[in-house]
Amino acid sequence: MSYPLVQETASHFPKPSLNPQTQNIHNFELKFRAICNNLLSLTQSSSLPKGLSLHAHIIKSGIQIIPLVSHHLINFYSKLQLPLHSTQVFHETPFKSSTTWSSLISSLAQNEQPVLALSYFREMLRNGVRPDDHIFPCATKACGILGDYRIGQSIHGFALKIGFEFDVFVGSSLVDMYAKCGRIEIAREVFDEMPDRNVVTWSGMIYGYAQMGEDEEALRLFKLALSEGLDVNDFTFSSVIRVCGNSTLLELGKQIHGLCLKTSYDSSSFIGSALVSLYSKCGLVEGAYRVFDEVPVGNLGMWNAMLIACAQHGHTKKVFGLFKEMESVGMKPNFITFLCVLYACSHAGLVPEGKFYFDLMKKHGVEPGDQHYASLVDCLGRAGKLQEAVQVIERMPMQPTESVWGALLTGCRIHKNTELAAYVADRVFELGPVSSGVHVLLSNAYAAAGRYQEAAKARKVLRDRGVKKETGLSWVEEGNKLHTFAAGDRCHSKSKEIYEKLDELGDYMEQAGYVADTNYVLQQVAGHEKSETIRYHSERLAIAFALVTFPPERPIRVMKNLRVCGDCHNAIKIISKCTQRVIIVRDNNRFHRFEDGKCSCGDYW
Ligand code: ZN
Ligand code: ZN
Repeated sequence: MSYPLVQETASHFPKPSLNPQTQNIHNFELKFRAICNNLLSLTQSSSLPKGLSLHAHIIKSGIQIIPLVSHHLINFYSKLQLPLHSTQVFHETPFKSSTTWSSLISSLAQNEQPVLALSYFREMLRNGVRPDDHIFPCATKACGILGDYRIGQSIHGFALKIGFEFDVFVGSSLVDMYAKCGRIEIAREVFDEMPDRNVVTWSGMIYGYAQMGEDEEALRLFKLALSEGLDVNDFTFSSVIRVCGNSTLLELGKQIHGLCLKTSYDSSSFIGSALVSLYSKCGLVEGAYRVFDEVPVGNLGMWNAMLIACAQHGHTKKVFGLFKEMESVGMKPNFITFLCVLYACSHAGLVPEGKFYFDLMKKHGVEPGDQHYASLVDCLGRAGKLQEAVQVIERMPMQPTESVWGALLTGCRIHKNTELAAYVADRVFELGPVSSGVHVLLSNAYAAAGRYQEAAKARKVLRDRGVKKETGLSWVEEGNKLHTFAAGDRCHSKSKEIYEKLDELGDYMEQAGYVADTNYVLQQVAGHEKSETIRYHSERLAIAFALVTFPPERPIRVMKNLRVCGDCHNAIKIISKCTQRVIIVRDNNRFHRFEDGKCSCGDYW
């Protein structure tokens, strides 16, 4: 295809006179201006019905001939996340200026249509339109979404060829693209070679390191940005706060929060949602509530972050309350919102509520995805309604995924239904390679029912398929440093004290009536050894380390990458009672706050 190309037709119309022909032109201009203003205000208010009728009016009056009108119309649909409508407008426009192309490509890239965005980008080049510093970033953004750095690299080469070598916008978008494609080293090269960098460049680079889990480098760069006097923006702040949240570096996170307060960026909902998740991830849910209340205008991300925090900390009533509040202030819930609410239902054993919110999704125009199904199956499975869970899976409009079967396996494990677990295992095998999380669930389900041979077989089959079991690790923060432990490991410099503490606690615990629940040990070993192995699970080592290091009033926050086993859960309850300490454990699923012999999850997790 080939498109006629015109220069930008702004509102350069002749001044009105008495001549009837110029009067016509004048009327046309008035109409044109009114339509543009109308479109801009509709874009602000996101009103689709009014936009559609204005679109029809534009076609009827023939005014789409002016590229600026098309530009506004394309942007309108883009804002409403209707990229295909934007494409339609583009094709209805007889004369396409470079702005028309650029608004279309941007609409496609911003609305997760990277393939289309890149094909229109190529089409534009074929039509002889020279890309500008707006189009290049849109095209590289599309490559970033696709995760294909090679196409990005050819766009990079082309940008250099036509003289965008020193352009800060193009350069920043390249840094961002390479980082998103996981080519952090190329991103860094571009970053280092740029003569000028703005806050977007820095943020993109910091974000890139954060995404790759290179937290130290992300933080180092952030400090460098500050020392160079860069006016960091809310995106930079939120990136580093997320780094702190992911690494559960609470103390550093608090310092950066302090910095945000000084620069008055604390009122941004962008930073707000990062702070909410930082405090929540570090086990300080009160801090999350405080931030949520303090930020004046919350966006959807902020609400969702607060919902996740409440759900993970088992504040179920608060989740339902927040959801109601969202509805009353007209905040439209999205698929993440529903995931949070369903998660809360399943972790509190609220089956009717779970079903209610699942059905509510369609009323809000959100189509349930596999994760929502997994959540519903999880809810039913945990509550022992395994047959109903199977029916839900059978009625799914899409292929059940690993997470859906994994949820059912969790139910099987809790209710010791090994027969169904075996059936699920067969389905999981059919899926091909699975993640280590499911592998652990599967062997646990057998082990819990005492079928150690099958557990071993399941592990072997999965091992043959190349699935590695994730090592269970627990860690605590002390002196701006994370101290990490694996089960039974003796690498820590305070190992001797840690093991002495555990043995001392073991005696106390036995007096308190604790008997190790050996069901939780995977290997078939002699009874004595089982409780020995369990006694040194990683979270217990981390807790013992905190007990010998922390001052008595400091709550102990332990993070774990896997689920806490039932036996450790029991043991930590007793430890919290006999040491009179608050112990907060985050496993891969949720938070447990142990105090005076009880856990906030009510033993339902
Ligand atoms: Zn354990
Ligand atoms: Zn618990």
